[in-house]
Amino acid sequence: MIELIIAERCTHCGECAKICPSNVFDAKPNAPPVIARLEDCQTCFLCELYCKADALYVGADCETANSTTFEGAQASGTLGQYRRESGWDEFDGDARFANEHWRMESVFARARDLARNR
Ligand code: SF4
Ligand code: SF4
Repeated sequence: MIELIIAERCTHCGECAKICPSNVFDAKPNAPPVIARLEDCQTCFLCELYCKADALYVGADCETANSTTFEGAQASGTLGQYRRESGWDEFDGDARFANEHWRMESVFARARDLARNR
């Protein structure tokens, strides 16, 4: 479940709000997005995957948002782990992080639009 948005790292790009298939975030102009519908998070990790600033943390617990802190996530090496170990962005082509994910923007966009129109 989405647990953290790290305001100091957020570049306000809005990608997490665009890609989230469950419409969990409200994007804000010139500000970090807000977690507006936490209960709708399905722990898909897509927001982590699309956040190039590693300003998001999704915990593996699907039921409960635990009180993870920026310092705790950073110290454990889990901040940005999903993006890194999926071989995206600057990790593309790095043999240590073979990319086995397909970019499925159109599929997730359809799911997001359905969630928004509920
Ligand atoms: S994707 Fe990351 S940097 Fe972009 S708005 Fe979301 S939290 Fe901020
Ligand atoms: S983990 Fe998935 S469902 Fe949850 S906020 Fe991120 S993109 Fe949305």
